[in-house]
Amino acid sequence: MIDTQLLQRGIRDERVLTAMARVPRHEFVADSYRAQAYDDNPLPIGEGQTISQPYIVALMLEMLEVSEEDIVLEIGTGSGYQTALLAQLSRHVYSIERHATLAAKAQAALAKLGYTNVTIEVGDGSKGLSAHAPFDGIVVSAAAPDLPPALFEQLKEGGRLVVPVGPTEAQFLQLVTKKEGKPVLSEQIPCRFVPLIGEQGYRA
Ligand code: SAM
Repeated sequence: MIDTQLLQRGIRDERVLTAMARVPRHEFVADSYRAQAYDDNPLPIGEGQTISQPYIVALMLEMLEVSEEDIVLEIGTGSGYQTALLAQLSRHVYSIERHATLAAKAQAALAKLGYTNVTIEVGDGSKGLSAHAPFDGIVVSAAAPDLPPALFEQLKEGGRLVVPVGPTEAQFLQLVTKKEGKPVLSEQIPCRFVPLIGEQGYRA
């Protein structure tokens, strides 16, 4: 996975590559998908949702440039796989998932692996998590129609927000940085994610 899916496609961040080599992806999929856990594609995790393709997870983490001192917010916990990677890379991860069943499974997988710097909440992540804001970095794993204003507001000055933005059929993965309180868009990569369902996302 590391050589053929990540290095050959240009992922270079050593911390991201090390974290991806360490986190056992098979612990975040159902037994029936274990044999395919390291394949080059997303896999079903229940509730009509997916664990993202390894490459797209690595790309998002590379764009986020998380440091070990950072407090980060993740929207769309899903299986908890990317949450585990963020836990390896940062000081603390707050992660929000709208499906309670997925949040519970992710929580169990993360506890089994011994992660203690993770807080998972069930709710509408499009509104962020104001009680713990501001964040050094925010990563959104579901597609938003526009940049969700609450998430930008909860980003620290100089912080980085990685979010897929666009119509439900296809989006651009955007890197938005907060500079003097304003959003600066610096990267746009074509992608396709499940929709962000919520007040500042798409309607259910
Ligand atoms: N990165 C995840 C992983 O490693 O398994 C995959 C995330 S999956 C592509 C997107 C997730 O976003 C789904 O689990 C979905 O339920 C969740 N989601 C969609 N809208 C949401 C919202 N408003 N708040 C929180 N989670 C949301």
